[in-house]
Amino acid sequence: MDTKVSPHVRLIGLMLLLGLHSISSFAAGTEDLIPLESESYPNDLLPQIRRAATTVPGELAVSINFVKVAESHRTYAAVIEDGSEELFISARTAFQIVYPQGSIMLDSGMDEAVHRFYGFGREEPYWQERNAAVQAALRRAQLIIITHEHGDHVAGVLRSDYREELAAKTILTQDQVRTLNLAPQLPEIALTPTLARTYIIVDYELILAVAAGIVLIKSPGHTPGHQMIYARLAGGQEFLFIGDIGWSLDNITKLKLRPAETIARIGEDPQALMYQMTWIKRVMDEDGLIIVPSHDDRLLTRYAEEGLLGTTLANR
Ligand SMILES: [Zn+2]
Repeated sequence: MDTKVSPHVRLIGLMLLLGLHSISSFAAGTEDLIPLESESYPNDLLPQIRRAATTVPGELAVSINFVKVAESHRTYAAVIEDGSEELFISARTAFQIVYPQGSIMLDSGMDEAVHRFYGFGREEPYWQERNAAVQAALRRAQLIIITHEHGDHVAGVLRSDYREELAAKTILTQDQVRTLNLAPQLPEIALTPTLARTYIIVDYELILAVAAGIVLIKSPGHTPGHQMIYARLAGGQEFLFIGDIGWSLDNITKLKLRPAETIARIGEDPQALMYQMTWIKRVMDEDGLIIVPSHDDRLLTRYAEEGLLGTTLANR
């Protein structure tokens, strides 16, 4: 199956890279498109991503920073099957990919009203000044990418004093826009079709290169519009931002989903998440990619201590 479809997938990837973003209509009637709801990614997905990462000219990024704008306090039992009652701190984060001459933001933080939604009525840590720093970084950035259409990732570009300015350089996928329009996670992040058109809306089959060293990887499951982001730095390190496919790296290393109640509450596709996690584990173990879940506070703290991620946003 994989060997049969890969040349076709490569062709799709090439067409995407050539800018034919409306691939679904272009390829209508063909049978061999990768069914994303199927059991796995193609075997040669990482080589495809690595090639795609070289297709946009320009210097590679030099470093990556992150900011934690808020925390949600959970238990491991709410994060992973058979998890303990021990505290799991969910870091609410935004990332800055720093180039010699500019930056790309990955996710957008959120205002305090949206943060409250995740507290289920409890008071939880929120840092207004850090979110303001994220807003300033969003304004400086050349491009903004969103892992998925949940409030803690996307609200910063929907509910900003600078919404119009940010929209013009924010990529949203058609699947993300559809959810935000028809089934937003909370009313505050609902997006009308008219407003949606002020963003850069893209559609792609499996991967899409958007900047030097940066490739989007479609991964519906946690939400319909979820995507991972691959980033290669000038120093050769390869990062894989996995959004909310797993909230903890333990989900990946142990290949364990969130508990059934959480899956049901979010409306996730557990089969899709499992094949994504299996692929993530493989590229981590065998290819040395640095895996970055959006919310794993303990892991992000360790990455910061190891110097893999910075914690101060660059002024560009
Ligand atoms: Zn999230």
